[in-house]
Amino acid sequence: MNLIYKSTRNNEETVTASEAILKGLANDGGLFAPTTIPALDVSVEALSKMSYQEVAYEVMKLYLTDFTEEELKNCINKAYDKKFDTTEIAPIKKADGAYYLELFHGSTIAFKDMALSILPYLLTTSAKKNNVKNEIVILTATSGDTGKAALAGFADVEGTKIIVFYPKNGVSPIQEKQMVTQKGANTHVIGITGNFDDAQTGVKNMFADKELAKEMEAAGYQFSSANSINIGRLVPQIVYYVYAYSRLVAKGELNNGETMNVVVPTGNFGNILAAYYAKNMGLPIGKLICASNENKVLYDFLTTGTYDRNREFVLTNSPSMDILISSNLERLLYKIAGNDAAKTAELMKALSGNGVYTITEDMKKALTDFYGNFATEAETAEVIKELYDKEKYIIDTHTAVAAKVYQKYVKDTADTTKTLIASTASPYKFTRSVMNAIDSAYDSKGDFELVDELNRLSGVKVPNAIEEIRNADILHNTVCDKEEMVSKVKEFLNI
Ligand SMILES: *Cc1c(COP(=O)(O)O)cnc(C)c1O
Repeated sequence: MNLIYKSTRNNEETVTASEAILKGLANDGGLFAPTTIPALDVSVEALSKMSYQEVAYEVMKLYLTDFTEEELKNCINKAYDKKFDTTEIAPIKKADGAYYLELFHGSTIAFKDMALSILPYLLTTSAKKNNVKNEIVILTATSGDTGKAALAGFADVEGTKIIVFYPKNGVSPIQEKQMVTQKGANTHVIGITGNFDDAQTGVKNMFADKELAKEMEAAGYQFSSANSINIGRLVPQIVYYVYAYSRLVAKGELNNGETMNVVVPTGNFGNILAAYYAKNMGLPIGKLICASNENKVLYDFLTTGTYDRNREFVLTNSPSMDILISSNLERLLYKIAGNDAAKTAELMKALSGNGVYTITEDMKKALTDFYGNFATEAETAEVIKELYDKEKYIIDTHTAVAAKVYQKYVKDTADTTKTLIASTASPYKFTRSVMNAIDSAYDSKGDFELVDELNRLSGVKVPNAIEEIRNADILHNTVCDKEEMVSKVKEFLNI
């Protein structure tokens, strides 16, 4: 059966999976969403005996129905290989009564690798299938982790160029160093004097700019997106929820059919949306627990039904979640509105206008699968120390937001359902914040001294991604205002 994708803002625009991957965003600015969510057609028992790559095929084939078996398996096998430091790809650690799904074993040590190591293959395969002759220019805004993961995925991939914008003062020192040391003649990294939302809005505007598209076409280029608005990012993220469930059943931690709750540290709403899709495919997921940092726009939305981005943007120690416009929420709105594109378009228009919208009572009722809460900076630090003291397990600041929100959820509800926490980054990526949480005396030390100290405390090997940047040269040092983003892109492309 062929799965069809439609724009969340217009029921007329209908595309196949490969077309949706190529375009990234629909012509009307909407996101591509599947018209139905397919059901898993293999048993958990069968899945529990499969490798990560095999589970990936079983899940992704249901969404990417215009890919042949050979094409899809080829993409999967090229993505989930030795770039990951464990053959399990996404191992699970049990600590303090919860299961931590470690999604940071890829080349840039954050969960973005789970999707961005496969996206270049999905994209180049899609280009071939659709006879695209233009060179594909990946244009991406990053709050820190997407940028590096996309750069690593696309560096030197033939037929592609990649341009990454990041908030100059809004990422961790290690995140910045990872990006500005990126090799590859087709890569371009630019800091902007603004926050993540400025970068994301600038990128979205360029996608919607018809004049720019014409100039690009004339020069043999076309844009595509590596942001989590691309369906090619979302689909690979569904895989690890299915994999995790089947692994817990295989290990006897869950009975087959037993409900599992999921906690996701959330920013752009991509990761938790993937969990929601997994639930809708028939995976026995109970509550979807949405964890926010002090930028708690999603907590407010889930508790009141009103989304309001008019608030102060807080720079936190979990920078990859410092977001006030959660783009992927649009796909959830579309689904809970009963695939009503007109309604979704109306809400999104209000969001880009005065920055506020309120969903209908019926839509609100459809949100009962979700629970939202947030963690303050102090609570985030506390939970890192607590888990270290209790279990000698060290988690990063984003995962700590989830761990704290999980504690709040249990306190609020007394729900004892077994729970999976999406662990989205290695503590080595946020070393300073993590070590300061354990002992504030560490703050006087240098970044790489802290890396070695973290290694001593945790006994976890220093990842290659960190060793690589210890002495790497800085190759990118462009900084611009948000108004200059278009001219920087043109400069790089020589148009
Ligand atoms: C991107 C990111 C998140 C947020 O994920 P979304 O899919 O944007 O909600 C959380 N933690 C880390 C470490 C990330 O890189």
